[in-house]
This record gives sequence, C-alpha cells and structure tokens, in this order.
Amino acid sequence: MRPELEASLLHCRNLPSPPGVALQIIELAQDPNADLGATAGIISMDAALSARLLRVANSPLYAGRRRVDNLAQAMTMLGLNATLSLALGFSLVHGLRGDNGTAHEQERVWRRSVLAALAARLLGRPAGVQHAEDLMLAGLLQDVGRLALLQAVPDEYTPLCVHAEDNDTLLALERETLGADHAEVGAWLARQWRLPGYLVEAIAASESGASEDPFHNCVHVSGVVADLWLAPSDPEGQLRSHAAGLVRSCTRGGEDALDDLLVQIAAALPEISTLFEVRISRPEHLQAISDHAKELLILRNLREIQEATQARHDAQVSEERMRRLTEQSRRDPLTGVYNRLQMEEVLEREFATALALQHPLSIAFVDLDDFKRINDQYGHLVGDQVLRQFAQTLQRMLRSTDLIARYGGEEFLVVLSHSGETAAMRVLQRILDEVSNMPMAMVEGQPLHVTFSAGVATHDQTNRFADARSLLQAADDALYGAKRKGRNQVSQHGE
Ligand code: GH3
Ligand code: MG
Ligand code: MG
Repeated sequence: MRPELEASLLHCRNLPSPPGVALQIIELAQDPNADLGATAGIISMDAALSARLLRVANSPLYAGRRRVDNLAQAMTMLGLNATLSLALGFSLVHGLRGDNGTAHEQERVWRRSVLAALAARLLGRPAGVQHAEDLMLAGLLQDVGRLALLQAVPDEYTPLCVHAEDNDTLLALERETLGADHAEVGAWLARQWRLPGYLVEAIAASESGASEDPFHNCVHVSGVVADLWLAPSDPEGQLRSHAAGLVRSCTRGGEDALDDLLVQIAAALPEISTLFEVRISRPEHLQAISDHAKELLILRNLREIQEATQARHDAQVSEERMRRLTEQSRRDPLTGVYNRLQMEEVLEREFATALALQHPLSIAFVDLDDFKRINDQYGHLVGDQVLRQFAQTLQRMLRSTDLIARYGGEEFLVVLSHSGETAAMRVLQRILDEVSNMPMAMVEGQPLHVTFSAGVATHDQTNRFADARSLLQAADDALYGAKRKGRNQVSQHGE
C-alpha cells in the first residue's frame, strides 16, 4: 500500500472502528482461555446482539434442532467458536455504519457483504470447509476495505464506486488511483483491529482469484456469486456462467451447483436480511432459477429430514439396547433378582443415605436350609425351580422399595430401607411362615417344601455401624447363629 494512503487511513478520524462489544469479542477470540461463560457475560450486555444470536439459533440455518429460548441455550447450541464469529459479525455490521454522505454506497457494500456471507456459508459444506460461521464472517468482512475507503477518502473513492460497472473494474480503478485495492486495505484494517489471523488472510486473498485454499476459495467465490445476485442484469448470461464455473470447481459439484446454491440463498435470504437489517431483493434475471433446481432442493431437504429421523431412531434403538444390557448385567439370570455385584453397589448407596438422613436400615441374609439335599435327591433342575420360586416369593412378600439380590448359590440378601430391627424381624418371620406353608416345587405330583435360616442386622441410632461391610458381616454372623440353633428360624445380630 502506498505510504500516503496508509497515512490518510491512519489519520482519518472517521475510519470505521469496531464498537466496544466487538472489541471485547475480538479480544476473547484470541484468548485461549475464553469460555462460553465469559462470552455470555459480554454478549448479554448488548440486548440487540443477544436477540440476534437467539434468532440465528432458531433460524432455518439451524433448522431441525430443538427450539432455543434463551441466550445460554443458544450459545450452547452454537458452540463457542460459532458464537464468537456470529457475534463479531453482527456487532460489526451494526456498529460500522458511518455517516459522511456515503451512506448509499456503504449500503451497497453491505448488501454485497451480507449476500457473500450467506453464499460463503452455503459453499462451505460442499467444499468441505468446517466452521461455517468463520466462513460466514470472512465472507461478510471481505469488503470492509471499501467501507474504510468510503470513510477515509470519500471524495476520491466515491466516484470510483459510482463509475465502476463491476468488481473487476473497481479493483482496477482502485489500484490505478489509490495504489491499492480494497482487499489490501481491508486486510490492513483487519490487522489494525487485531482481528484473528484467518480473517486477515481471507480478506487479503478475497480478490486474488481462485485459490488452492478451500476456505479462501469459498470467500472469493462468494463475492462473485453476490455480484451475480446484485447485477442489474445479465443479458448474455456471462456473469452467470462465470459464477457457475467457479461454484462448480469450488464445490466439485455438477451442472446444477450454481442453481442449487441460488435456490438455497433465496430460501435463507429473508432471514439473513432481517438479522443484518439489510434489504436485498431477488433480481429479475434470477427469478427463473430452474424448476429442476427447486425440485433438487426439495428432494434434498426431504432426504435430510429422513436421515435425521432415521438417525434419531437408530440412537433410540441403541440406547434401549444399552439400557437392556446394563439392566441384564445387574440381574441374576436364574431368578431375575439383582446379582451380588449390583447389590454391593446399591447397599453402599443405601447405607450412605441412611447415615446422612439418620434413618434406620436393616438387611437380612437368607439361606435355604439343606439345599444340597434337594439337589441330591431331586436333581439340579428341581433345585433351580425351587430357587426361582423362592425368589418370587421374596419379591411378592416385600415392599417394592425393598431390594433383593441373589448373593450366591442358595443365599439371598434383602435390604429393608427405613426399617428398624423389630419391623425387619417381623417381615422375615412372616416370609418364613409363608415359605414353610407354600410348596416351592412339585415333584411327581407331590409338593416340595423348604425352610430357610435368616440373619438380620440393623443400623440405627443405638446400633451404629461404621460402613456397609460391617453391617453385612453382622448379618452373616446372625445367619450363622440361626443355622447353629437348628435352622428354620430368623436371628437378630447381637441376640
Ligand atoms: P445349610 O442348611 O447349612 O445352608 O446347608 P446347604 O445344603 O443349604 O448348604 P451348602 O452350602 O452345603 O449347599 C448349597 C448347595 O446349593 C450346593 C450347591 O450345589 C447348591 N447350589 C448353588 N447354586 C445352585 C444353583 O444355581 N442351582 C442349583 N440347583 N443348586 C445350586
Ligand atoms: Mg443353605
Ligand atoms: Mg449356603
């Protein structure tokens, strides 16, 4: 850039400068420790900016996701990077409008910028560029040099804008008259503003023709597409075929790539115009975007909806399978009650709760008497049947809040939360009565009865246990006592 031009830019009192909120966002964007919280703090100070972010989060650009009701949700949905880029774009567009008699020209620049921002964003996906919002921001800011020139050297620059019929002519005139084009000036300004490096580079490259770098390429092509949109007419279709070629090579798309893009721009434009408060209408020469392109778009939208539905369905199915597998891994396959591993976990939790809330907790070890003999006498299958029937009886006789686990072999553990020792003893005794009256299996038409021995231990205000393990040990001791005293009975720890 010529030193005189740089000097007049530097000394221009009207040089566009980012509003305070944009400066803070720029700073955050460079800060490796920035997080959503800090960003929300800054954005929420600016009500209009917050409203715009909320609106963009609910806009068709993010269609299909759930409705977002507040700034925090919007930011979480968008993510930090996208939030910063969008917020910077909005705050710059709304903060940079200077008033020095060039308002009309500035408005033209903004129309091109907003269109290019949308085009760049839409080109990103087929071009394989991630970070759609960064791309949108680069598309938006590529002509910021023109705004700077309109404000810094309005008398020299306005006539160039008025006379230039197209962007190429304008660039040539800029270089001739000012010794620099608006891409160069824009990059210089972006550097002064300390915008992130990727933006400085994208602005600098925006008028250098097709680029190897897909990001820069999308930005460049977005400008050409915006020019096509804004051209008053295109009688020989030259603008259109130029843009079509660039869009095809940028997206590696087919014949319809440009039409497809134009249909998408048309669809998103009302929303974007509102967000950026720039009025852009559809030009005459693009009214007739081919029906074929519209059909393509409708089909693609349909397919995306179907894919999303399928993906949701798949997620539900695998979630359900995971849930079933987890549940299975917690249960004993023979009886369906909890297994020992699960019970140990549950008991730890129950014990901690009882301790914290100071309510009593009773547990009982229940062991079938002479079970080995049943196996020996009637076979393992009958033994299994007895175990199943016994577990069912326990379940039937206990409250749904009580927990049952098969601790091993023919031994079960019952956890009676909120039960003191008297209540627990009564419950176990009642079960014992029921079991001795009710056959646990039929063998050759004959009822088979079993008994059990149980050991109860209770943690309460008078009998305090240090942990779940000692409570288990106490119940086991009590069970051993019941066996020793002749089986078919319930013993209480410490009796
Ligand atoms: P006690 O009254 O002292 O408890 O005597 P018991 O015979 O019940 O105790 P012991 O521990 O000597 O024997 C338990 C038997 O339980 C031995 C084992 O074969 C049987 N058993 C363990 N798991 C299963 C099972 O899943 N199915 C069947 N059918 N039997 C099992
Ligand atoms: Mg036994
Ligand atoms: Mg046993």
